[in-house]
Amino acid sequence: MATQTPTRLAWIQHELDDLKAQGLYNTIRTINSPQGAWLVVDGRRVLNFCSNNYLGLANDPRLVAAVKAAVDQYGVGPGAVRSIAGTMAPHIELERRLAAFKGVEAALTFQSGFNANLAVIPALVGKGDAIFSDRLNHASIIDGCRLSGAKIVPYDHCSPASLRAVIQAERATGFRRGLIITDGVFSMDGDVAPLVEIQALAAAEDLLLMVDDAHGEGVLGPGGRGIVAHFDLHGQVEIEIGTLSKAFGVMGGVVAGSAVIIDWLRQRGRPFLFSSALTVPDTAACLAALAILEDSTALVDRLWANARYFQAALRQLGFDTGLSTTPITPIMLGEAPLAQQFSRALLTEGVFAMALGFPTVPKGKARIRVMISAAHSQADLDQGLAAFAKVGRDLGVIA
Ligand SMILES: *Cc1c(COP(=O)(O)O)cnc(C)c1O
Repeated sequence: MATQTPTRLAWIQHELDDLKAQGLYNTIRTINSPQGAWLVVDGRRVLNFCSNNYLGLANDPRLVAAVKAAVDQYGVGPGAVRSIAGTMAPHIELERRLAAFKGVEAALTFQSGFNANLAVIPALVGKGDAIFSDRLNHASIIDGCRLSGAKIVPYDHCSPASLRAVIQAERATGFRRGLIITDGVFSMDGDVAPLVEIQALAAAEDLLLMVDDAHGEGVLGPGGRGIVAHFDLHGQVEIEIGTLSKAFGVMGGVVAGSAVIIDWLRQRGRPFLFSSALTVPDTAACLAALAILEDSTALVDRLWANARYFQAALRQLGFDTGLSTTPITPIMLGEAPLAQQFSRALLTEGVFAMALGFPTVPKGKARIRVMISAAHSQADLDQGLAAFAKVGRDLGVIA
């Protein structure tokens, strides 16, 4: 029986209908298999170009085995927030090992990267302070900035000149503390923040610097140690945010930096104080992922080789892959309905690649985004390229 939407909720139905009419309604698929190079989506086996499982660790047998052993020893849940009774030995071990991997004094884990941003930004700045934020920063940074109560001063995407100009302008009105925040790798375009120039400005202006390296952790830098290692800026960036849900293949967020900041977050990070810890299985899986990264650069090397091969072949076919210099591969299509049509046609060809439209990306800049993984074989990549070539010609995107 069809139910009638109550009048007081009718506006929501109108909004939803509007999204559908504009090609912006997000259809969420159900996955009936582990995350890997291939997925079972709505009952069909398809090539996976959607997940942030950069290194193929989400279903790695070594992580699965570590989880089983940890569950046998510790059970499942943390039982409480970290500051009351929820900090268990695996949490401490993971934080010690993450700090060593990153080459920083200390690290603190959170339930997610999103929560890490909600914790750290309001703990460092507040009323009377200024945050200088790249215009394309991730939603969790924007929300963390809003929660802090500090003045948010946007600067043009990846532009040190714009950053310098807005800092100068803000100096004229005056502020107490200043914090510069940038994504490391921007997830929609796959471009990398000019961190050397930003760090030089932060140092010259005596501002705190924070980089959210969610898409760089396990991807950029020697052995996947992230953007700070990539640019050789050890000790010069106060706060690095990472996620354990992308290249690490699990779940969780991390703040890496100086011991004094980590100590402060244990006292003042609200998602740390008021939301329970990562589960033991998550923590054990992260430890196993870290051990794999410490042991060998093979997966990271494979990821980059796959990305270079796939992107060069797409450009050869005549596609526009935008600004990417990382394994994130946008295929620029323009209008959202074309991107959705492209994505549906790819699925018919057995390829799962999502269309992204407004508000995830600016209007008129809709795209398909392919996430390359070390888990893809050469045959997988070639099969994907053949599907892109066919759909691209069918829809008149390439000649
Ligand atoms: C994905 C992402 C996050 C959120 O990470 P989760 O661990 O999934 O919550 C935060 N910041 C950036 C830049 C991201 O890309």
